Amino acid sequence: MRYFSTRDANLNFSFQEVILKGIAPDGGLFVPEKIPALSMDELEKFSSLPYREVAFHIFKKFEVDIDDETLKFLLSRAFKRFNHPEVAPVVHLKEKIFLVELFHGPTSAFKDMALQVMPLLFEFSLRELNRKREDSGEPALHYMILVATSGDTGTAALEGFKNLENIEITVLYPKGGVSDLQELQMITQDGFNQHVYGILGDFDDAQNAVKFIFTDRKFTQYLESINYKLSSANSINWGRLLPQVVYYITSYLHLVKKNVIRVGEPVTIAVPTGNFGNILAAYYAKEMGIPVEKLICASNENKILYDFFTAGVYDLRNRKLIKTPSPSMDILISSNLERLLYHVSGETEYVRKIMTDLREKKFFEIEKSIFEKLGEIFYPGWVTNDETLSFLNKIFRETSYLMDPHTSVGVKIAEEYSAKNPAIPIIVASTAHWAKFGIDVYKALHSIPYARDKNDIPELREKSGIEVVRMVAEQTGKSIPENINSLDKKKIIHNRTVPKEPLKIEEELKKIVEG
Ligand SMILES: *Cc1c(COP(=O)(O)O)cnc(C)c1O
Repeated sequence: MRYFSTRDANLNFSFQEVILKGIAPDGGLFVPEKIPALSMDELEKFSSLPYREVAFHIFKKFEVDIDDETLKFLLSRAFKRFNHPEVAPVVHLKEKIFLVELFHGPTSAFKDMALQVMPLLFEFSLRELNRKREDSGEPALHYMILVATSGDTGTAALEGFKNLENIEITVLYPKGGVSDLQELQMITQDGFNQHVYGILGDFDDAQNAVKFIFTDRKFTQYLESINYKLSSANSINWGRLLPQVVYYITSYLHLVKKNVIRVGEPVTIAVPTGNFGNILAAYYAKEMGIPVEKLICASNENKILYDFFTAGVYDLRNRKLIKTPSPSMDILISSNLERLLYHVSGETEYVRKIMTDLREKKFFEIEKSIFEKLGEIFYPGWVTNDETLSFLNKIFRETSYLMDPHTSVGVKIAEEYSAKNPAIPIIVASTAHWAKFGIDVYKALHSIPYARDKNDIPELREKSGIEVVRMVAEQTGKSIPENINSLDKKKIIHNRTVPKEPLKIEEELKKIVEG
């Protein structure tokens, strides 16, 4: 199986090469040359297998070029770090609505689903490459993983790449743009190869800086001169997407096992969406043959995707990032949409053209035929900040299930859709543990408007983020994952900020690679 750029089919590489590169040399994203089909017989066979083995078979379907024994070993090592035996358990919420809980990994958010796997595959691919280099007398290659994060990716990437051989990991997060807990999770990381910076800008500034640095020839040539290369752990890396396909398949099988559906009957999948990675994985599962009737793309007040799916225009003009209680979805440029547009158009020239429009004119408009195809697959929706919190509260009163605000966005649109399509079960991706967003969950449970500052809420004024989480746990009888509960006992290791200018960030990276 070869992978090529969404912008040029002649630029094609193997899985191991693609995982190391992250982004294609022309700025496009890597896509598989074909999406393998899964038969209903195969699906039925999977239903008796543990999560890691389903993952193994899905990876084999995509013809990942890693030998079976190694692949099995790496997958079992990755999924051992989850604190639930099913890895991604499915729970029944109400009526036809189910949640697939993607937050049982070491950082309590869904990014772990991929970022516990991808770094191990990365380290393996690098070791293979260095073995070949050694044979031909070349020095070992090192990698700098550069990650822009709106919150959850950073911690999950730091955890995933911690202490791996010949790899340094640098994370840039918007200073003041992530929750204090998310920040603590990052700045208390104690691996020997981890570097964390608060960037003085928003998430898009961080992502743009990363994109600039990747394509800055002068800088990358300098790195190469000292045997360093850059790569990304953002969800633009194909190694991030592939592991995410797995839980859509296992959650479908769960509904079969529970006699909610029979194999072959349709489900709807709802995903609270930001960079479009998680929902794109659901799209791949659908294209492989999982009977998915609709993919619900749920947005917060940064509803550029909602506008895109309803009007056929992706428009950055006159748009500013809005702060929401679901900060991991506060994104204007949903990078993975490019892959979807490749798959539905089937033409790299077309993708190249609209991506040029986006860069030069700050918008693109898709053709009518593509717009219609997307309308058959996707159902878009969006939720305001206060609705997100009041809905979280409503679901807690109704079911005593406590969701995080990202999940609330997904379930809100799922409920709206289900009212119109009551026969079809809906699987909602539950993307974070509530305890990662304790202050907003507190506001939700006490019907406090989202916009009210924590310091204007008398009982919270003196409290840290973790103390508020403990208050919520006490009031609701819910428990707190250990990785979060222990945060205020950990030492702060990273406390640097950096301006948003890419050249300033490059200076910091130079200091790291020069030791
Ligand atoms: C990253 C993230 C999302 C958005 O997922 P995308 O793949 O970027 O669309 C939603 N919720 C949480 C908690 C996340 O961390």
